[in-house]
Amino acid sequence: MVIKPKIRGFICTNAHPVGCAENVKQQIEFVKSQPKVSPGPKNVLVIGSSTGYGLASRITAAFGAGASTLGVCFEKEPTERKTGTAGWYNTAAFHTEAKAAGLYADTINGDAFSNECKAEVIERIKANMGSIDLVVYSLASPKRKDPETGEVYSSTLKPVGKAYTTKTYDTDKDLVHDITLEPANDEEIANTVKVMGGEDWELWLKALHEAGVLADNCQTTAYTYIGKKLTWPIYGHATIGRAKEDLDRAATALRENYQDVNLKAYVSSLKALVTQASSAIPVMPLYISLIYGVMKQEGTHEGCIEQAYRLFTEGLYASNPTLDDGGRLHMDGHETNEQTQARVEALWDQVTQENFHELADYEEYHKDFLRLFGFGLNGVDYDADVDPVVNW
Ligand code: NAD
Repeated sequence: MVIKPKIRGFICTNAHPVGCAENVKQQIEFVKSQPKVSPGPKNVLVIGSSTGYGLASRITAAFGAGASTLGVCFEKEPTERKTGTAGWYNTAAFHTEAKAAGLYADTINGDAFSNECKAEVIERIKANMGSIDLVVYSLASPKRKDPETGEVYSSTLKPVGKAYTTKTYDTDKDLVHDITLEPANDEEIANTVKVMGGEDWELWLKALHEAGVLADNCQTTAYTYIGKKLTWPIYGHATIGRAKEDLDRAATALRENYQDVNLKAYVSSLKALVTQASSAIPVMPLYISLIYGVMKQEGTHEGCIEQAYRLFTEGLYASNPTLDDGGRLHMDGHETNEQTQARVEALWDQVTQENFHELADYEEYHKDFLRLFGFGLNGVDYDADVDPVVNW
């Protein structure tokens, strides 16, 4: 079939297998063009391995440090008539490239929140890897089924405390307009923490520790976005921010609970980027389009792979990584420094429907968005007939 993007609201409902493979290859090429990650991890588990920051972390571990990787993701398999999700194709491409490079790679497509998935992961680690020395927790999910009670919790993207009116950009209608977001109630806050907080990260480490598959001096990291004034009302100080604060609690508990293997647990704060998760958050497309323009002018623009590579070399595997007061690693400094934020705040105050495309780098945002689904990559023939069924 000939595959063209089918965009509905803030998501693209199909994906291009050849384009996704090209996207993965380009990220691998970037990592290969950089100095080796040394010291680096040897056996890595990436939970949320198929897209965004998790995929970039997996690529960095494998192609930067030569690590064996086991991934966990939740993706849709293609059929003859319907394409798979981008994460499915990314994973297939990653496996192909890893195999060609002689690197062990295995992926479980299942619900990471479930006990079954954790048991399956442990079984495969025991059978094929022995133990794990890095666990990357990079899930972004709108819901979570509690593995004990079976209750399904949904997360919400709402302010906390009071309603908030702000500018936003509707990517579907090409419209800059004001929106008022009503505050979350206590239950919505608690449910968001249940889905995106630290509980499942802790359950993963508990299961791995109990099974005896955490190597001595193992490291683990979960990802957060802290941001600044412009995004705090909808992110940092909002429901999702509450969930992210819970990651800090979990990191402290993990360090205390697994001292026998000298576990190092970090929350790593990364920069705002276009991913499937972030494009669903109100205000973020406008903020990201503006910050892209500013950071490009400043020569500091980075994608997921550049961030992941720096996290490994300047954070997780650096001899003396800089931590903030809360014990977190930061790769977001080029975005959150005062000068850059002052520039983006000035643009934010000026931006209107009329001048949006002049002030913001929406072109780059949209290109990045399409690339997430394998569209718009150089060297790919989008008029060619391709087989949507790709397996790994
Ligand atoms: P993403 O949507 O690209 O990736 C999410 C991953 O989670 C995918 O691999 C998906 O398959 C997997 N997943 C979702 N539900 C699952 C389930 N039930 N079981 C197994 N796998 C499941 O998201 P992303 O933007 O890369 O986000 C990853 C992490 O990074 C999140 O914690 C996010 O908050 C954080 N982060 C994102 C940004 C940003 O701007 N995108 C910035 C800083 C931090």
